Order: sequence, then C-alpha cells, then structure tokens
Amino acid sequence: MACVLCLEEGGRSVCQCGVMAHLPCLAALMLRGYERCIVCRARLESRAVVLAARLTVNDASFALGPEHAKVQWRKLHLASAYVAAGDYAEAKRVLVSVSETASGRTGSLFLACQVDLARAMIKLGEMREAKHTLERVNVCLESNLHLLADPYKRRTILRGKTSHDDLQGNQG
Ligand SMILES: [Zn+2]
Ligand SMILES: [Zn+2]
Repeated sequence: MACVLCLEEGGRSVCQCGVMAHLPCLAALMLRGYERCIVCRARLESRAVVLAARLTVNDASFALGPEHAKVQWRKLHLASAYVAAGDYAEAKRVLVSVSETASGRTGSLFLACQVDLARAMIKLGEMREAKHTLERVNVCLESNLHLLADPYKRRTILRGKTSHDDLQGNQG
C-alpha cells in the first residue's frame, strides 16, 4: 500500500476507510487546513491526528525555538487532537506548557489557551481549577474587549478552534 498523499510506499492507516498516509504527509495536509479524510470525508483517526499534530509542533519548535507564538498555536491544535482522542490529561499538560511561555500569556493566544484549559479541567472533574482558570479569562477579557470585537479572534477564542492562519502564525 502507498501513501495517498505522496504516492510513495509506506505510511499507516489514518482513517476508518483504510486509507494510508505517512505522518509527515498528514501533518503537512493538516497545516493546509484539512481536518477530514481526503477520500471518504470522515474524521481522521484520532491517534494519527495526535501524532501528526505533534510533528507540526516539533517542526516549528526546531525551526523557530520552543517559545515562538507559532509553536504555541500548534500546541493548541495538538491539545484539540488529544481532546478528540479522549486524552484530557495530555491536553491539559500541553495547554499548561503553552501558559508557561511568554507568547502564551498574551492576547488571543492566552484566551484561547485558557478557555481550552478550562474545558479540559471540567472533563477531568477539576471544577475548582476550571473556575479559577475561567476567572483569569474574565479578568483578561475585561481589559481586552477589542479581541472579542474582532470576529475572527472571537471565533478563535470562544470556539477553542485554531485556524489555518493560527497554525501558520499569522495572528497577533
Ligand atoms: Zn506520504
Ligand atoms: Zn477515509
């Protein structure tokens, strides 16, 4: 069997339809904004998405340094992949690591990260931690209402969804 993306031999099953892809090929596809199987349109297999998302983080970290905002946005995407795989503890670990970087403590990145973090904590039954996290979001929002006035940033923050532009590091 060959990778459906580069047509070279190898790869692993990445979808219930049995389509094969190399993880770096899948990672490149995800960075172009694809979230579904290019053959059957089903959601990609969650562990394959986690592994590919981890590659996108490692590549950006190697090229730009671990503190770069693009790396943090890709970590948010990785955390979403862990959530989709039902691994909330690992999602939380990734989001906490974003919170611990300078770029992770500013603007829409901070807010998106904290909203996702609170969601992960709720899934883990950590209601007090989730409440404190949401209180931090509230304080930050009060001094950053312009972020919510921007429809693009509002969508990024409130839907906990990183977009193609975020992954490319185009957002401030
Ligand atoms: Zn390939
Ligand atoms: Zn498929």
